[in-house]
Amino acid sequence: MPSALIRAEWVLPVEGPVVQGGGVLVQDGAIVAVGRERDLPPCDGVPVTDLGGAILIPGLVDAHCHLEWGLMGGLVPDAGFGDWLGAFIHRTAGVTPADREQAARWAALTALRRGTTTLADSGPSGFAAPAAGQAGLRAVVHMEIFGRDTGHDAREKVARHGEALLEAREQAGPRVRMGASPHSPYTVGPELWSEVLADPILGAAPLAAHVAESPDEVLLLDQQVGPLVEAITSVGRDPARWPGGGPGVVSRLEAAGALAPGLVAAHCVQVDEDDAALLAARDVRVAHCPHSNARLQCGDAPVEVLQALGVAVGLGTDSPASAGAYDLRDEARWAAEGVARRGGTPLAADMLAMATIGSATVLGMQGEVGSLVPGKRADMVAIRPFEGAPVEADPSLVALDPRSRIAASWVDGELVLGPDGPVLLDAGAIEADAAEARARIM
Ligand SMILES: [Zn+2]
Repeated sequence: MPSALIRAEWVLPVEGPVVQGGGVLVQDGAIVAVGRERDLPPCDGVPVTDLGGAILIPGLVDAHCHLEWGLMGGLVPDAGFGDWLGAFIHRTAGVTPADREQAARWAALTALRRGTTTLADSGPSGFAAPAAGQAGLRAVVHMEIFGRDTGHDAREKVARHGEALLEAREQAGPRVRMGASPHSPYTVGPELWSEVLADPILGAAPLAAHVAESPDEVLLLDQQVGPLVEAITSVGRDPARWPGGGPGVVSRLEAAGALAPGLVAAHCVQVDEDDAALLAARDVRVAHCPHSNARLQCGDAPVEVLQALGVAVGLGTDSPASAGAYDLRDEARWAAEGVARRGGTPLAADMLAMATIGSATVLGMQGEVGSLVPGKRADMVAIRPFEGAPVEADPSLVALDPRSRIAASWVDGELVLGPDGPVLLDAGAIEADAAEARARIM
């Protein structure tokens, strides 16, 4: 017996045609039917939530973000990537774990309010796991590892990281998966990266990394020069070296066997057609973060080339330290501007697809979330169109418009954001704690 019928004037399944005057039937946290109300199976006696003129979409899926840096907005000045990273390293050196924990809780609250129901985090401590879990969000939390360690040191570091991951996994709620992240080719050497892939715990976990983000990263890997080298050496560390392959980042990773199937590669701006073909062949997926790429002068990610060659591309918000605000609808607008800049015609439906089923596919979760299809989990967001919105002309465009309000969210059919705000969180307490943490960080 279904447990709920969510009824709305507009239902956007993303996979499948738009339904006007329809609903989603939920049972045991899963979608059992989607369609016009008269086409749904009989559901007499099933509790109905009537959303009136709202647009119901799949919950948004953030393919790459950093909850622990949620309180860094406006504190690291815009600059080219290498200079920005240098400033970021210095600016965050004194941020305590307690403040990063508060930041993660605030960031999860913010993501929830902005329509995200699944997010993929990368961070040094894994604080995103309890933060996302407590908010009721679905999450993959990639614990970052750094270093040029080799031999025994690399194996030791990876073993400790695996233990930390298992410990975090035990405390993570049922909707949170723990993963690992060799941070990037400029902060992690090929030996440590290989140890991560070979490790029975880390290598079997979901994996993410920053890949080919900026021209500075290419300069570092190809010539060992440039602002990124200066940023890393300024804190007494050595940039990593990837001697095989090249030029460029992806071919060096390929030469070292570092392109693991399922790896979520964030950014992938500095890639050409050959790189895209390699990523596709290795089943590496891409989290496109257009706002951050623009702010840090990384260039224009060739999204259409990646997609044409079969690479799954989703949308990520990165972190407020560089640009994002855990707002995938805003990120979709940046993505649309990129499509237009590259000579294409951005369609709102395509942007919505990238922020839902695209990101879900990047995370390997396309069988669970990312579209409103029977059998998937009932992760949904209701959006209230702005006054006079031309919903009939383009419901996706209206759903992504910032004037249209996120009105409610469900994860596993459970209401996590309602008319009075977050259901599972004390938003006022989180905001007060975050304001105190932010004052300390400033
Ligand atoms: Zn990132």
